[in-house]
Amino acid sequence: MKTPSINPVALIEKKRDGGALSAREISGLVSGYVSGSIPDYQMSAFLMAVVLRGMDAAETLAMTQAFISSGDVIDLSTIPGIKVDKHSTGGVGDKVSLVLAPLLAAAGVPVAMMAGRGLGHTGGTIDKLESIPGLSTRLSEEAFRRQVASVGCAIMGQTERIVPADRKIYSLRDVTGTVPSLPLVCSSIISKKKAEGTDGLVLDVKTGRGAFFSKREEAVLLSKSLVSLGNGLGIRTVALLTAMDQPLGRAVGNWLEVLESIELLKGGGPEDALEVVLALGSLMLLIGGRTGTGQEGIPVLRELLRSGAAYDRFLAMVKAQGGKTSVVEDTGEVRPASFAVPVDSPSAGWVASLDAREIGALSVGLGAGRMRKEDAIDPSVGIVLWKKTGDRVRMGETLAVIYSNDENKIDEAKSRLIGAYRFEGASVPVPPLIDCLVDENGERPF
Ligand code: URA
Repeated sequence: MKTPSINPVALIEKKRDGGALSAREISGLVSGYVSGSIPDYQMSAFLMAVVLRGMDAAETLAMTQAFISSGDVIDLSTIPGIKVDKHSTGGVGDKVSLVLAPLLAAAGVPVAMMAGRGLGHTGGTIDKLESIPGLSTRLSEEAFRRQVASVGCAIMGQTERIVPADRKIYSLRDVTGTVPSLPLVCSSIISKKKAEGTDGLVLDVKTGRGAFFSKREEAVLLSKSLVSLGNGLGIRTVALLTAMDQPLGRAVGNWLEVLESIELLKGGGPEDALEVVLALGSLMLLIGGRTGTGQEGIPVLRELLRSGAAYDRFLAMVKAQGGKTSVVEDTGEVRPASFAVPVDSPSAGWVASLDAREIGALSVGLGAGRMRKEDAIDPSVGIVLWKKTGDRVRMGETLAVIYSNDENKIDEAKSRLIGAYRFEGASVPVPPLIDCLVDENGERPF
């Protein structure tokens, strides 16, 4: 990418003061940052100005195009079938991609997935997958293409060659409080999807306490922007709005979430995570041309989970990416965290809410995510929630188990965990998980 000459300070100031940048200016900033001529501190200031001032549709498109042209675009056209991917805007306990990629491959829909690492208080598919010993997500373009053709699915992280701009900016946003910005999220997600070569895309747009866009109106706006940007770049895109008020499933933390994904792939696992898997999966079948309506694919997917076909495909994917399949088949082979500490309920009653954002932040604090760009992930730490919203609890009953490798973190983690629960004296209804579908015609019930 050629670097147009721009003045970074002037552009930061322009955005700070609410101005709109031209495509040339945005491209100059992005390419300057990728080449190293613009340092982290200037890009951080620019990103914060975008968080506070926003970007219009033309700027968002320019940012997306600058990201795409920072690297290669993979050509999957030689692989037969409609390639479909799924991407979430970020959640806590959201292990759905680990299940969906092999599940859809087992259904005959090729899945070419480029996923991200943990961001802020949310987890990332790449960090989760890499907790499987030996597994590499740094696939070359050729290896990615070959694996999608042979196994039916592949999950790769960004490389130096594919959307390097997002790779660098994503990790900077993670540690500078600059994640919750509609144009930044849109350009980050859609650039990766264009570069990976997918034909179709199902987005899981999270809303609620643990989502980057907690207000429903913001999440709907984000869905509409993503759908319009994706379709505008030739990717058939739909979005499902789903609740992220409490963590999805029971496990939060990288290896713990892989364990729960294996349960789901074997036809078990928590009901809420399964509901999201089936809803998103049925939309992937629809976009992949396998079914005529969104709900029609659900029994097909259930059968692929029950029969073990999806699990077998997961094993094949792990093997193809160099992972040790024996740890998937015998999960006891992986060394657990040194401390597994049950946390007892201080009250009796019903769980009225469980703060997903706080649980995500707690898990990051235990080492499952990063506080600084260069931090290493501890795959074994996290939390397993035994009680969730709507559950009845007795005083002293276990609410959750904290997994830590640092004894000094346990007391604080326990009190944060208890603080994330709100109890009521009477039973409370659990709010619906699936809110609505957004496609090129707007918002409607799923
Ligand atoms: N997922 C991404 O890939 N990028 C974001 O900015 C947020 C979620």
